[in-house]
Amino acid sequence: MDLGPLPDQLQPVVAFHGHLCPGLLIGYRAVQAASQALDLGRSEDEELVTVAENNSCSVDAFQQMLSTTFGKGNLVWQDNGKQAFTVMDRRKNRAVRVSFIGDRLKHQRPGGGTDREAFARELLNAPLDSLFKVEEVAVEPPPRAVIETSIICGRCGEPTQASRAVTVDGKTLCRPCAAEVNA
Ligand SMILES: [Zn+2]
Ligand SMILES: [Zn+2]
Repeated sequence: MDLGPLPDQLQPVVAFHGHLCPGLLIGYRAVQAASQALDLGRSEDEELVTVAENNSCSVDAFQQMLSTTFGKGNLVWQDNGKQAFTVMDRRKNRAVRVSFIGDRLKHQRPGGGTDREAFARELLNAPLDSLFKVEEVAVEPPPRAVIETSIICGRCGEPTQASRAVTVDGKTLCRPCAAEVNA
């Protein structure tokens, strides 16, 4: 997909994700919409939290641009299958939900399939308010990441977070081992 020279802010997002695709552009513009609404900078620590209602390409823009990441625990996945994202700023105690309202179908090819390049070009250039609904929401941020104690699985011997351990026949096991024992 060749869209010509990309904006400076987009280049590291594409490098992080590994390719340029319509989904990533939805995320890139959604971050812009959320940042504009909340007047955000980059998250240094955990003051930002993103709740992503899908686990597709778009989410990588939130990881790269806002530093809300799966590893830090300030990226939460809600499996709703929607291109919708809630970004919370703990310091300002504000949150906005950004949901995609653009129309992929208008880029449908007569023979079937989507004209991805035309769709991508629209995603890159269209005004934000034609692509997203943005609403201020009141959301309780999830608790900050806590360091949890580990137990040793009684079957495979691997350390496992205590809250994920399962007791089977009096033995404390990790989830995969418990599933195998119960199979
Ligand atoms: Zn992608
Ligand atoms: Zn185990």
